[in-house]
Amino acid sequence: MELESSPLHPHVMLVSFPGQGHVNPLLRLGKLLASKGLLVTFVTTESWGKKMRTANKIQDRILKPIGKGHIRFDFFDDGLPEDDDVSRHDFTIFRPHLELVGQREIKNLVKHYEEVTKQPVTCLISNPFVSWVCDVAEDLQIPCAVLWVQSCACLASYYYYHHKLVDFPTKTDPEIDVQIPGMPLLKHDEIPSFIHPSTPYSALREVIIDQIKRLHKPFAVLVDTFYSLEQDIIDHMSSLSLPGAIKPLGPLYKMAKTLICDDIKGDMSETTDHCLEWLDSQPVSSVVYISFGTVAYIKQEQINEIAFGVLNAGVSFLWVIRQQELGHNKARHVLPEEVKKQGKVVEWCQQEKVLAHPSVACFVTHCGWNSTMEALSSGVPTVCFPQWGDQVTDAVYMIDVTKTGVRLGRGETEKRVVPREEVAERLREVTKGEKATELKKNALKWKEEAEAAVTRGGSSDRNFEEFVEKLGAKPVAKQNGSLQELEKS
Ligand code: UDP
Repeated sequence: MELESSPLHPHVMLVSFPGQGHVNPLLRLGKLLASKGLLVTFVTTESWGKKMRTANKIQDRILKPIGKGHIRFDFFDDGLPEDDDVSRHDFTIFRPHLELVGQREIKNLVKHYEEVTKQPVTCLISNPFVSWVCDVAEDLQIPCAVLWVQSCACLASYYYYHHKLVDFPTKTDPEIDVQIPGMPLLKHDEIPSFIHPSTPYSALREVIIDQIKRLHKPFAVLVDTFYSLEQDIIDHMSSLSLPGAIKPLGPLYKMAKTLICDDIKGDMSETTDHCLEWLDSQPVSSVVYISFGTVAYIKQEQINEIAFGVLNAGVSFLWVIRQQELGHNKARHVLPEEVKKQGKVVEWCQQEKVLAHPSVACFVTHCGWNSTMEALSSGVPTVCFPQWGDQVTDAVYMIDVTKTGVRLGRGETEKRVVPREEVAERLREVTKGEKATELKKNALKWKEEAEAAVTRGGSSDRNFEEFVEKLGAKPVAKQNGSLQELEKS
């Protein structure tokens, strides 16, 4: 449904899949929309809400002012027993369950805001793992938009795969290269791995393809990327005349950085380890930051090799070792005692702030898209250790396209434990000598490109302003002085 200028006060409901890599970009978008004068309601499941409340002191249904508008959080029960994390971690169970319950719950929430608080929802925005939100919007005759939380290259890969526009690896021909116009030639293990016939995660492929099948429903497909980074593929996808215009408006991380609202966060864990203070005490460009995101799980044997690689390279480190969200059969990683002394281990950190810290020399990353964008727009070179999904494609962009990273591995399918000698070699390469200088130079160039995209009049800023205009933003406080009172009803 096309969005026409609405006589109603704009109220955007953002619906996120409960996962850190999904919540972060959508919440960044939500804060930016609120700052422009919109009323924004951010919705995800109660099980994620519980984490957000604990880690960030978030209160349900309370309006928080940002710039000219407001944001609030609302959480719905996913219908599973509170302690049933086994089902929540099993995507084949969780995906259909969430769709069934979520459709009903989002409809109820939309009704609540229309009938009880008299704030009808004028637009629904979702991320790809909950593409059924587009169906809810259609049923309720509410315009919708999608925030694609991976690269435009991955969007194109799934689109081309679903529509069979070029050849992809098959069971009989599993090692063919893939050439999509506007993209580098991808080897069989560089396409998003869920597309590969050998993937053990076909449920993850299906959930993304569900969004591709619904690309005709949103009036805009917003992508957390920026034009100069993916120019050719953005132009190509835009030329396909999808009903929903492809709009790069990232890095949302960089764009949202200008807002003064540090207390509105969607982190699943709290930072308690004073890592920024610790970084302050370290020399400039001396620390290797290590984090493999919030979902990928790396075998302990590999962690040991990375740890000894760090020790042998003689660099100090800040290493995120998660306690939460590990799921079934996944023990918390332990570092060898002799390695521990050489750096700092934390359960969680404010990654954006860590990457912006002058003491950080490089980032050993699993190449999740948020981490990729955060590293790139902070000017930090990377040691790429992709595991699965879009990470293997993101690594190609960091290593071969932006030339800001070096390769430590090719992904989970490689079934190889990278030895400590290789780890140490890569770390030396990124921190010392000619190659390190080159990588840093490139990283700083891409930082500047990212900044130019989000600055006033830049490519992402223009797309964002255009989108806001379509939503019909007017300052909430001026328009509706009684908003706070309505909220209490
Ligand atoms: N993150 C963080 N602190 C941590 C670890 C991760 O703030 O200690 C954030 C990180 O900045 C990024 C997100 O969690 O925004 C992870 O998303 P990404 O797409 O990189 O990986 P995923 O977890 O989805 O695999």
